[in-house]
Amino acid sequence: MTKPGVTTRQVHADRQLNHPADGAVHTSTTNAVLFEFEKTQDLVDVFQGKKMGHVYGRSSSGSMAALQTIIADMEGGIATACFATGMAAITSTMLSLFKAGDHLIVSQYLFGNTRSFLDTLMDLGVELTFVDVTSIRDVIAAKQDNTRAVFTETIANPVTQVADLRAIGKWCEEQKLLFMVDNTMTPPPAFDAKAMKVSLVLNSLTKYHGGHGHVLGGAVTDMGNFDWTSFSNIKPAYQVADERMWGITQIRKKGLRDLGATLAAQSAHLISVGIETLSLRMARSTENAMKLATYLESQDKIERVYYPGLSNHPQHYFAREQLGGYGAILSFDLVPGIDPCEFLDELKLVLSATHLGDTRTLALPVASTIFFENGQRERARMGITETMIRMSVGIEDTDDLVADFDQALAKF
Ligand SMILES: *Cc1c(COP(=O)(O)O)cnc(C)c1O
Repeated sequence: MTKPGVTTRQVHADRQLNHPADGAVHTSTTNAVLFEFEKTQDLVDVFQGKKMGHVYGRSSSGSMAALQTIIADMEGGIATACFATGMAAITSTMLSLFKAGDHLIVSQYLFGNTRSFLDTLMDLGVELTFVDVTSIRDVIAAKQDNTRAVFTETIANPVTQVADLRAIGKWCEEQKLLFMVDNTMTPPPAFDAKAMKVSLVLNSLTKYHGGHGHVLGGAVTDMGNFDWTSFSNIKPAYQVADERMWGITQIRKKGLRDLGATLAAQSAHLISVGIETLSLRMARSTENAMKLATYLESQDKIERVYYPGLSNHPQHYFAREQLGGYGAILSFDLVPGIDPCEFLDELKLVLSATHLGDTRTLALPVASTIFFENGQRERARMGITETMIRMSVGIEDTDDLVADFDQALAKF
């Protein structure tokens, strides 16, 4: 039988891969922090990584393991580690893999908190070069002898720049560099990490996976195509028998166990339920985003719309060729003279709120909120205008969203 599609797997993964007891369709959550072993030797073997099992809730639990199986399956990877938040996944992964003296090539268009964390990483002695990831030439030009990895998002937020993922992946493979991609914007099937030769996929599960604004989580998935024997930062203790597992083992030990940002059992359950409708919600949100982008572009009170699905978007070609969807984030500038906050106050259905990937359509002025701390120069470098409004398009009926904008625009 051919492998079922991603949507089918998302619906059936928990039951089929995790085999919950009693034929339950969800893995039951455990609140247990500790796990008893009848034979002490088994406890010893689990500690030493010779046997699978759980010893302490900060490192692993059945609930977390169940979600990890589901995410690894949908990404097409070999193993996943889950964390308390998306930021925990990103920070724990980087802190467990890199050290002072390493150099990373990083997208200059990044989620604000990730960008802020990278300042901390630089303070710790990791060298970074920020590049325009829409240009493979800029990425290649940034390479140094001590370069370890390239890190980018698929579609950046809020300006929606699309990285040249295929070219970067191919180059990283040739150069034996770790290719790390934050795929929060385009969860499977919209992004095929394996085809783009990604080494590690990072996700905020808080966004589209959870999907309902009710749970925080994060994940890192090893796609199984990176040669960890060529990566000198793996500690001898984690150079376990299967070389493909060296990276995720170190991330689990150094990142999860030592840093301790563990995903709670109940959160793991809520995220796995969210994943069952991920493809449906994503498809609907993407369709709504395309329609809204087209509508907004035709309005004379809107100066500019940023959405990769529009044919005039600078990376429309990359998005069309490399992604299975244009995502559900779109941004726009109102014409000068209309205050973004006053405009957003006139929207009745659209919520003024941060967050993205929700069933509800959300909007906010970005320069004064999520990118306020960055300052105007940094914002300009990211392509963020001072009046830009970002929207995370939800799954509502399209006509209702358009009607909401119609009535709001009529007020100005
Ligand atoms: C939200 C987000 C994160 C952080 O995720 P949290 O779960 O909120 O910690 C990381 N990367 C991107 C692209 C995001 O949108």
